[in-house]
Amino acid sequence: MTALLALALLAPATADAHGIWGHVHVTGWAVENMPDDELRQFLLEPEVFNALLFGAAFTDTGYAVDSAASRAYSEHTHWEPFIEDFIEWIRVNDPPPWNTLESRKRVAFLMGCASHGLQDTLFDSLFLYQIEERDGAGQDFADPGTDGFLVLDEHVRFQPEEDIPMETLLELYAGLEEEITEDVIRDSVDLTVSVYVNADIGWSVAEGMGVLHGPSLPWTRVHYMDPVVPGSLRAEIFPTMRYQQALWKRLHGELSADDVTVFAYPESPRRLLGHEHAQTDSWTSLIFGAGVRYEDGLTELVGPDGAAVPFTQGNNRWGQGHTRLIRLMPDADLEPGGWYTARLMPGVSLIDGQTSTEAWEHTFQVECDPPDSELCPDLGDIAVASLDGVPAEPAGGTVDTGTKSDETNGGCGCVTAPPTAGGLALLLCGAVARRRRGTGLRRG
Ligand SMILES: [Zn+2]
Repeated sequence: MTALLALALLAPATADAHGIWGHVHVTGWAVENMPDDELRQFLLEPEVFNALLFGAAFTDTGYAVDSAASRAYSEHTHWEPFIEDFIEWIRVNDPPPWNTLESRKRVAFLMGCASHGLQDTLFDSLFLYQIEERDGAGQDFADPGTDGFLVLDEHVRFQPEEDIPMETLLELYAGLEEEITEDVIRDSVDLTVSVYVNADIGWSVAEGMGVLHGPSLPWTRVHYMDPVVPGSLRAEIFPTMRYQQALWKRLHGELSADDVTVFAYPESPRRLLGHEHAQTDSWTSLIFGAGVRYEDGLTELVGPDGAAVPFTQGNNRWGQGHTRLIRLMPDADLEPGGWYTARLMPGVSLIDGQTSTEAWEHTFQVECDPPDSELCPDLGDIAVASLDGVPAEPAGGTVDTGTKSDETNGGCGCVTAPPTAGGLALLLCGAVARRRRGTGLRRG
């Protein structure tokens, strides 16, 4: 442990946000929290579940190696254009039902990569702003630190083994500017697995990062698994589950554009944490089960008197063209105890070419300040995502995410070390990734 911590100390402070162990576990927990239906049974077949979890790790592997090609495939794998291409490939070349294990593992791998991409979006676009506000720290600390906290708090229990649909990936990456060969992928995956995603030293390396960065992240240390705070690892579980369910529908050609919003923060029936507009706590956000083409004017925010509330609509942190998240950030303080509605307007364009025809609404209350037991009574027991393999009660599948307007109202912390440091160039995930994410590699 001492030696590993020393290795960690050697790593330059170029780390990023959400660590690989965090991705692996949130992805697995999302499946475990599903209602006991066809999808949950499909994904919990042991070898299929392993492929899902390795897909959640694979997405960041390209950041382990200092090459443009490896970074390019990792970057691409994070975003909806890749996910949509992968879904289309499966629908054309290997449509359901998937009777062979190879087919089922490929579907699961896709869903693991997609889950990772969504989690980075949630963490970076929501929780990381909280970390910056409260701890004054960024991805360099948050990504490796949160991976380490998971180990220190004994939350880790999944250890996926390598399983990659190589031929399919090479076909999907053929359109990238960089040439992605099997050797490019092999070099990145081999290094990642040898120093981090393994049962021997992987958790210990993460633990060292947690010890190292804990003192710089006092608020994060307490809240990184807080289900109340949007974008925390635990608060990512239900949105990831909803996204996986949407992916399943997309694979079957059954996701309607009017059902693209799969989750919203504040998670019903929780209240919006803060009314002061300068605080991240005052943001509302909508999460989508397929990439939505980002443009101005997609949303509205309505206040207690039915009047429009001034706000700034925001894309995900990295500004991708087809986004899985939109933020509504008020431009003036909200009314404590007041009820507000965030609305996604009809006419949004999805990455698969569909256009929505109905509005979608999420109505929520702002937390009282000062506390008021009459206006803001105790909310009682609210379902929290389980971490132990037993679905939450009530099942996460019943989590209310909002209403159609015509219904009832309503990065990793890739800690990179120079190759000379014994090849310990690793990845707690995607910080480097995230930095490059805004540079336009993506088609989305
Ligand atoms: Zn990542």
